[in-house]
Amino acid sequence: MKFGGTSVADLDRIRNVARHVKREVDAGHQVAVIVSAMAGATNQLVEWCRAAATLHDAREYDAVVASGEQVTAGLLAIVLQSVGVTARSWQGWQIPILTTNAHGGARILDIDGAELIRRFKERREVAVISGFQGFHKETGRITTLGRGGSDTSAVAVAAAISADRCDIYTDVDGVYTTDPRVVPKARRLAKIAFEEMLELASLGAKVLQVRSVELGMVHNVRIFVRSSFDRPEDIDPHGTPPGTLICNEEDIVEQQVVTGIAFSKDEAQISIRRVEDKPGVAAAIFGPLAEANINVDMIVQNVSSDGATTDLTFTVPAADYERAAEVLKGSQGVIGYQRLDGANDVAKVSVIGIGMRSHAGVAARAFRALADRGINIRAITTSEIKFSLLIDAAYTELAVRTLHSLYGLDR
Ligand code: ASP
Ligand code: MG
Repeated sequence: MKFGGTSVADLDRIRNVARHVKREVDAGHQVAVIVSAMAGATNQLVEWCRAAATLHDAREYDAVVASGEQVTAGLLAIVLQSVGVTARSWQGWQIPILTTNAHGGARILDIDGAELIRRFKERREVAVISGFQGFHKETGRITTLGRGGSDTSAVAVAAAISADRCDIYTDVDGVYTTDPRVVPKARRLAKIAFEEMLELASLGAKVLQVRSVELGMVHNVRIFVRSSFDRPEDIDPHGTPPGTLICNEEDIVEQQVVTGIAFSKDEAQISIRRVEDKPGVAAAIFGPLAEANINVDMIVQNVSSDGATTDLTFTVPAADYERAAEVLKGSQGVIGYQRLDGANDVAKVSVIGIGMRSHAGVAARAFRALADRGINIRAITTSEIKFSLLIDAAYTELAVRTLHSLYGLDR
């Protein structure tokens, strides 16, 4: 059972969480709980690090930001004990959750779940584990897994103890066909395949950290996204509560062609005009961007008609737009291009569905529908189970709504 920041935002909510845990323990389940820091706590800790020194030691950043989860783990253990549930808190280093030493964005390497299992079997003791944090063995330092990392902690622990399921309790009751704030008709999905969820999470849906879905897929941990705000006692621990199960595609009987629509306005477009069309140009452009740690996403290049020059368009995160432009201007001489254009007011709308593998013309229908609404498409990329369209940001909502009803997701 994993509880996010809003679910542990204050003592009342932590008591509510304890009731959810007690319900499962009383039903005979063996439970490990992973908690986030109280809502806003991590932001505050990050802010303090920045205020202390703009350029700070990443090891100390981790020492500071890992503390939020330590508080909630301890508090939940206290509250559980007070309602008669045997419980013990665990920090990342105590289990230990071994990670790489990439401070601020470490990856989990190994978790030994034997002790947690033994304690549950011998004394029905619930493990309350701090999410987000780990331990680098060689240096003996505390690490953190990147923002939103508690989801990943939860799935990794679930894999380590061979859990039947990893329940992510959050402030929404599941994964929706798209953001319900944009499309009121958006529906909760009963099931979604790992691959689809991976695309949704990577393309802008903010329910789960991408890495957690990746881990679930690799270790085959079924992830169940559900709300912590349902009254704990109203839920039948042996029944099927409302929520979304992220699972193998074989476990989804009624597969739709399109499962969901994601969108992101945090995109910027860069177009390089009249680049020389010769070997090594793409390397000259994208090499320096990679070195600057700028993630390039959609790439569209034309074949030149005269064999001399062509245009190349791609997207970067909006936050990296200026930096990317600087890098490219710096290497204009090496790349050899005439002009650099860019736009910050663009959005990427993505349509996702495993059914696309076996259905032709899915994207073509979208092009028609958007054209009918007068929406211009700046760039297109496709893969086996998704396609993404770059459009003017002003049309995002209209595009998402149009596509949502086009593929029958309103029903
Ligand atoms: N508390 C951390 C964060 O806010 C980790 C998490 O909640 O998943 O990013
Ligand atoms: Mg989160």
